[in-house]
Amino acid sequence: MRGITQSMNKYCLRVVMGVCLTIHVGGCSQPNSQNPTSADEKPRVVATSTIIADLTEKIGRDEIQLTSILKPGADPHVYEPVPADSRSLEKAKLILYNGYNLEPGLIKLMNSTAQGRKIAVGEAAKPLQIEKKKGQTVPDPHVWGDVKNAIVMTKVIRDALIELSPEDKQVFTQQAQQLIQELQQLDSWITKQIATIPPDKRKLVTTHDAFQYYGRAYGIPIAGTLIGISTEEQPSAQTVRKLVDEVKKIGIPAIFAETTINSGLIKTVAAEARVKLPSRQLYSDSIGSTGSEGDSYVKMMSANTRTIVEALGGKYRPLRDFQIKK
Ligand SMILES: [Zn+2]
Repeated sequence: MRGITQSMNKYCLRVVMGVCLTIHVGGCSQPNSQNPTSADEKPRVVATSTIIADLTEKIGRDEIQLTSILKPGADPHVYEPVPADSRSLEKAKLILYNGYNLEPGLIKLMNSTAQGRKIAVGEAAKPLQIEKKKGQTVPDPHVWGDVKNAIVMTKVIRDALIELSPEDKQVFTQQAQQLIQELQQLDSWITKQIATIPPDKRKLVTTHDAFQYYGRAYGIPIAGTLIGISTEEQPSAQTVRKLVDEVKKIGIPAIFAETTINSGLIKTVAAEARVKLPSRQLYSDSIGSTGSEGDSYVKMMSANTRTIVEALGGKYRPLRDFQIKK
């Protein structure tokens, strides 16, 4: 109980800090005509995860110099920074990172080298607490799985960019508003797609535990995962066997591999449980590479939803059709 209370207190502190930050940012957005922006003088912004980089790019567009440290398909949990990352972090005026320990290597480097303002964008979302060994709980970092959290993150990024470059307030506000509208459509579209899956098949088994927020937001509970919320751990033979038994017991037709993780073991689970492993892998902790069907946050969430709905026997209708009809 004491552990839970302490972690709740920590969480409350984070919320209070997040609220203060938003108020502060809002209160500082005065135009600054003394600082005209030439191409070289655009403020340098670093985003750690590809998801945060994509949201930031859509709000900041041409008014910022954005560097995304993680590249599409890279696993943030185990990423080991390279010297170029230190240089990017040192030069940045603003660093937008996920937090809740999604990217431990980069958070450590950032805290030792970066002078710019640092904002844990993902920590603006209310965390789910995941139980670790010995009764300890930790916040689940995969907050973007619920699109409503991505809307919260978009607002945090917008406010941070406005404080960084107040003369661009109008353009940041407009671009953020457009993105928020798109995210609202995405959110209700996912709900409708998942609801087409027969209720007894509406259960998700994935490689690592990255879909708790998605499952709760869209009514598809997580029935099992091969590994926990961090990909550092290796599943034991016993864990694999238990998951095979669980998949057989719940009677779902498919389980899922992920783009950022080697699919060897989840293939074994699928083969032993005699269920399908769709060739379309889920985008869990990163957007896809440019030109892939998941090369933005909206597209990755849409592609994941299609993969899940089709594999579990639902009726998928493209997001584009939904947006036109609305
Ligand atoms: Zn993860």
